[in-house]
Amino acid sequence: MTIEDAGPELRTEALEALLVKKGLVRSAAVDALVERYEQDIGPLRGARVVAQAWTDPAFRARLLEDGMPAIRELGFGDNTDAHVARLVVKENTESVHNLIVCTLCSCYPWAVLGLPPAWYKSPAYRARAVREPRRLLAELGLELPPEVEVRVWDSSAEVRYMVLPRRPQGADDLGVEQLTALVTRDSMIGVERL
Ligand code: FE
Repeated sequence: MTIEDAGPELRTEALEALLVKKGLVRSAAVDALVERYEQDIGPLRGARVVAQAWTDPAFRARLLEDGMPAIRELGFGDNTDAHVARLVVKENTESVHNLIVCTLCSCYPWAVLGLPPAWYKSPAYRARAVREPRRLLAELGLELPPEVEVRVWDSSAEVRYMVLPRRPQGADDLGVEQLTALVTRDSMIGVERL
């Protein structure tokens, strides 16, 4: 395989290795940047989007209709990912639970969730999310009642998915800021319920 055949992720890794080797970049600096996207920028944006959807029915409707224009209303969607891929938001309900995966590689809604966690990219997650999602979720601590239908959404370069989790019970009096703090990254991937 040549570098041209590799996916963006492998190309990026190869590029990073080369830059580090030539002494142009310190690996730790790259790691810190990645961590920032993984922990801070990403999931917080998604959480803010979710809190807005919970408190603003018109926004929620626009978000479910077409994700990217809606997140731009909140000032997000400014990274490159947002220009190439559609964002489709899948809403969890009493009877339907959604789970996102990329079976081919590691496509992920960067614009709202930042970088994917390492396990999202693992072959085990990618295969089992499709083959036995219910068992996989149970192992991750999410036991779904049999009457809840599990829907699995396979991401691609063109379409990215995000889960709109259900609003937790007893959170009726909270404002957008407090609600944002309740939303976890994993709930927007669909491996956790709030
Ligand atoms: Fe992918």
